[in-house]
Amino acid sequence: MAVTVKIKAPGQRACSERDAKGELCCGHLKRWYTPDEETLKVVGREAEIYRCERCHTLYKPAPTDDSSAGLRYEPRPVSLLGGFLRKKSAART
Ligand SMILES: [Zn+2]
Repeated sequence: MAVTVKIKAPGQRACSERDAKGELCCGHLKRWYTPDEETLKVVGREAEIYRCERCHTLYKPAPTDDSSAGLRYEPRPVSLLGGFLRKKSAART
């Protein structure tokens, strides 16, 4: 069975799949922590995957999507580093 994965727009929380009548599904997209093997083959093991509660359409976040903050660990420019650098240059004198 083919697995179709849609790209979830940044911030998107509801399913945008349309049914036969052209009506939006609007099901809630939930993080899917236990994808099956078929899905893993398509999206990769590291991928974040979401599934519609109603129609079970699969979504993965757009690369720029940070709406799942707290689940991602992105390196950020931190002021700590600046503080450290300042300290270091001060110690040199
Ligand atoms: Zn849906």
